[in-house]
Amino acid sequence: MLRSRSDWQDRDTPMFQLSTKGRLSSLLVGTALLLGACAETPNPAPQLAAPDKAAAQPQQVAASSAPAQDAVQLTPAISFEDWRAQFRGKALSAGIPAELFDRAFAGVIPDLSVVKADRAQPEFTRPVWEYLDGAISPVRVRKGQALLAEHAATLDAIEQRYGVDRETLVAIWGMESSFGQFMGDNSVIRSLATLAYEGRRPQFAENQLLAALQILQNGDIGANGLRGSWAGAMGQTQFIPTTYLTHAVDFDGDGRRDIWNSSADALASAAHYLQASGWQQGEAWGIQVALPSGFDYALADTAVRKTYAQWQAYGVKGTPTNVDPNDAGYLLLPAGHRGPAFLVFRNFGAILKYNNSSSYALAVGLLGQRLDGGGPLLASWPKDERPLGRSERIELQEGLSAKGFEPGPADGIIGANTRRAVRAFQQSLGLPADGYPTPALLQRLR
Ligand code: CA
Repeated sequence: MLRSRSDWQDRDTPMFQLSTKGRLSSLLVGTALLLGACAETPNPAPQLAAPDKAAAQPQQVAASSAPAQDAVQLTPAISFEDWRAQFRGKALSAGIPAELFDRAFAGVIPDLSVVKADRAQPEFTRPVWEYLDGAISPVRVRKGQALLAEHAATLDAIEQRYGVDRETLVAIWGMESSFGQFMGDNSVIRSLATLAYEGRRPQFAENQLLAALQILQNGDIGANGLRGSWAGAMGQTQFIPTTYLTHAVDFDGDGRRDIWNSSADALASAAHYLQASGWQQGEAWGIQVALPSGFDYALADTAVRKTYAQWQAYGVKGTPTNVDPNDAGYLLLPAGHRGPAFLVFRNFGAILKYNNSSSYALAVGLLGQRLDGGGPLLASWPKDERPLGRSERIELQEGLSAKGFEPGPADGIIGANTRRAVRAFQQSLGLPADGYPTPALLQRLR
């Protein structure tokens, strides 16, 4: 949770169908999409780029003396031992007992695989439809439905306490850890110590590390059980330590908040977090919509929020189900104007608090609907159009900049400024202004 920021791109196309809570299943026309691969692995959202723009510039200090092909060079100016001594002082001032600190750090050295993962800036960007295929695989849907039945009593109690629907919780459970199967086996202390020592966001990692020590201090889990992803996301819900401290709950009543070994604790913790993130009980996360011909795609922007009634006045047609005409939301075109379009509401925003990636939130929403018996999307994805790779996105930004469209720094991240610049460029060419960059558009810039 709160791990990655990856905006994706948009595009839309008519056709509708999709229930809000999946209740609408039936009657479909059109292409069945989310058929899915079967990989039962967790689904980190496709990253357009590194989450942090200000990646530390390596200064090639020395540490490593074996320059292998892909050897990782540690770059901080001080030794790990010196860093640890400094951090120990901070931890002790924050109330961590010296004995606990020394036990937690016994034998801990930087983990080069963590450094490598932290620095990775993959060139290839996975298309959103492939991501969704993996996230909503038939295997995962079947397993999720079996777990909904198996944990029905617990989920009843969680729904009553937190007002978050069970399908969303089980969808998050599936997305984060394949229902507890893949939680990450890295020592959280070691991973976070590595990132605090030399990662791209050392202050963030240091705060997480301090929170991890507090978790040990509270006694909810032993040092050996404090395991997670390379980035320090832990347990069946992949909470980062600060989120654990503020939102993990003991739901099974054994006195410990155990998101690693207790699915009741994990599911209730996720519900508690969503509730605190503004979840609206009974409200749809979103609906698939059809847009009228001649629609002004510049309206499909996270900054343009209107009520469902107002969108309807623009000719936007959704599957109504339980959508209140006064619910406000924005249009989302995950693959631009040629792909499916969604109108997303407040609960989509709550899911984004869990993981700030539109593709992640969409996968959770759609997986939840499938778990609830909903059918596949009707609109088809523009599979003939691959997403731009990282270096192409940088080239796009440079090209837009050269033409005076002001996309912001050429960092390969398609944020609000780049999207606005893409729209302006599209408008100058008389193209649908969906803000979604394609290889063809990049070609027009060259
Ligand atoms: Ca417990």
